[in-house]
Amino acid sequence: MAERKVRVRFAPSPTGPLHIGGVRTALYNYLFARQHGGDMVFRIEDTDSNRFVPGAEEYIIEAFRWLGIGFDEGVSFGGDKGPYRQSERRDIYKKYVDRLLNEGKAYIAFDSPEELNAKREATANFQYDARTRGEMRNSLTLPAGEVEALMAAGHQYVVRFKVESGEEIHVDDIIRGDVVINSSILDDKVLYKSADQLPTYHLANIVDDHLMEISHVIRGEEWLPSAPLHVLLYRAFGWEDTMPCFAHLPLLLKPDGKGKLSKRDGDRLGFPVFPLEWHDPKTGDVSSGYRESGYLPEAVINFLALLGWNPGTDKELLSMQELIEQFDLTKCSKSGARFDYVKGQWFNREYILARDNAELAPAFLEILERNGIETSPERAAAVVGMMKMKKISFIHELWPLCDFFFTAPRYDREDKFTRKNWKEGSAAEMQELMTLLEGLDDFGVESQKAAVDRWAEENGKKPWNPWRVALVGTGKGPDMYELAAFLGKEETLCRMRRAVAELG
Ligand code: GLU
Repeated sequence: MAERKVRVRFAPSPTGPLHIGGVRTALYNYLFARQHGGDMVFRIEDTDSNRFVPGAEEYIIEAFRWLGIGFDEGVSFGGDKGPYRQSERRDIYKKYVDRLLNEGKAYIAFDSPEELNAKREATANFQYDARTRGEMRNSLTLPAGEVEALMAAGHQYVVRFKVESGEEIHVDDIIRGDVVINSSILDDKVLYKSADQLPTYHLANIVDDHLMEISHVIRGEEWLPSAPLHVLLYRAFGWEDTMPCFAHLPLLLKPDGKGKLSKRDGDRLGFPVFPLEWHDPKTGDVSSGYRESGYLPEAVINFLALLGWNPGTDKELLSMQELIEQFDLTKCSKSGARFDYVKGQWFNREYILARDNAELAPAFLEILERNGIETSPERAAAVVGMMKMKKISFIHELWPLCDFFFTAPRYDREDKFTRKNWKEGSAAEMQELMTLLEGLDDFGVESQKAAVDRWAEENGKKPWNPWRVALVGTGKGPDMYELAAFLGKEETLCRMRRAVAELG
């Protein structure tokens, strides 16, 4: 077979915010597409109108924009294989449903929900399939005239796919190999419902993958059970030659590895399971997002990329470009990937350390503003630069470590650091230091350091800890010269004078 152009799709149903597992799926599709110079399609699978949630589609688009996962075609991106929203493709699906009906590969069923329930109660493990379809009310059992009459009278019906039993179905999966199941375990899946004149997920999914020339279906493990049916549908339409390759990604597991990751794990342990904050339009509930929690998008990408795949080296910090180059779908794990959110925090810390301080300043400015501090982007960036190596994973963790840069400390004799370091002669020593500093024309780090180090050396002084008490009020903060230079001469001397007066 000739090499096909790589075309992948991410096809969410807009039933709520995008779960972080969905983001990982989209990312793997993106990496694969970019690696092969292929296309990435964004399709909205909204054929289940009961589960439609307003705002979900916009949310998903915004999440990918934030994360830097780009699409080439699809809802909001355009393209020549649209429309890309399934609810706008009714006529297309109807044609294909009719084709299966005409060819005897599907049939019409009139069984009401009550009748189906009665059947389920009467028969253990009832399944609508080759063994039972003969006992049901459908176009295979009713005379043709009655079928027509029922339809003409407006009776609701569904179209079911006629699955022949006893056949081995092979799903060729890039990650899982040859997955074989027997068709007897499948039921005659509903492909179309007259009630809303819409196809179900299965039919719409296959027709669209075919018409949109999708070459690879990369999706979560939860869709693996649907894959045999999808193979049968491809065959029923005679599209075997363009059947996509499948890759079912490993499940994301709870942080302790026991069971599937859920929203409740996030609530319980305090980490987001959604890319962006989500406001539930029905309940008004707010769920936290990675963006609003202070993660950098690059950190989220790097973290997610390594959940289910790794480059086979020790290198963990990988840019999007490196991921595109190194990603290997065939090396994804089959078994679930533990959602180690602490590792996610570590990634964020690493990306903050590597990031330009000026780029981090806006986020810090916002936090300062919330704490009533007004300052310039330059000063915010300077503080970030002095303090970001202090074991923080998020910019908002800087505030309690950095308040003294912007507000004068309160002195507390009971503070442990103060008790230990503000001693008998400290006030006198600070007086001397103040005189020395006052005489400096250049209050920059180098100039202070030269003068103070010499004075300390010559006089056998160790002024740094009491000086820290005076400027900070306790045992935290950066290098003293950097701090004093940031505060400036006037503020530095003012704080020292107050410390001497209050601590004595
Ligand atoms: N609409 C499905 C979903 O919500 C798509 C599954 C697939 O990729 O085939 O994930």
